[in-house]
Amino acid sequence: MKIIFLGAPGAGKGTQAEIVSEKLSIPTISTGAIIREAIKAKTEMGLSAQVAIEKGELVSDEIVIGIIKDRIVQDDCKNGFILDGFPRTISQAEALEKMGVTIDKVVNIYVSDEDIVKRMSGRRVCSSCGASYHTVFKPTKDNKTCDKCNAELTIRKDDAPDVVKSRLVVYHEQTAPLEAFYDKKGILVTVEGQEELEDTTKLTLKALDIK
Ligand code: ADP
Ligand code: ZN
Repeated sequence: MKIIFLGAPGAGKGTQAEIVSEKLSIPTISTGAIIREAIKAKTEMGLSAQVAIEKGELVSDEIVIGIIKDRIVQDDCKNGFILDGFPRTISQAEALEKMGVTIDKVVNIYVSDEDIVKRMSGRRVCSSCGASYHTVFKPTKDNKTCDKCNAELTIRKDDAPDVVKSRLVVYHEQTAPLEAFYDKKGILVTVEGQEELEDTTKLTLKALDIK
């Protein structure tokens, strides 16, 4: 099974992708997480992506397409994978087709812009393992350290309110057109993001026909 999760920044697609990934025993590939790792490790790719990411702009197609190309040929992807945060532009979607990847389902998690802005202020990420949390919707035991590795939680630079606004503009201009792109192929399902994470999960699993 090959699945794409679409949705505005902070819609909760990463969290849902992780849950589905565990259920189906296939990996989640998050371009955002891979880029953040590269920034932390100060690799050449990380350094060239850093400026764009911190401004809330998209990283170049060349970089993200390269990331996906390298990742999907790895062993753990042979039974399928979930893409979280890729594609984000029509040209990335076309590149994916050129790689010969046939997508089974695209799950579009819908949350209004107003709710997105409210949610982003509570988002936290583990400084060590990269796990993501939310102070209200997905808290850790103490809201200070990671449940998985005990490292300190931090706020992503690109989650600052003004950067979130730019990311939403970018989303509507460049990523939202993918909804029509996949709808035309008959593989788009839209899930309304719920207040409670578990409720969104129920709708997501139903949309994917997973028990
Ligand atoms: P979110 O879904 O909350 O926006 P991500 O972790 O998916 O967070 O992405 C964070 C940032 O990483 C994006 O704002 C963008 O700068 C960069 N990025 C991630 N995936 C892509 C992509 N497919 N194309 C271009 N930039 C990307
Ligand atoms: Zn951690």
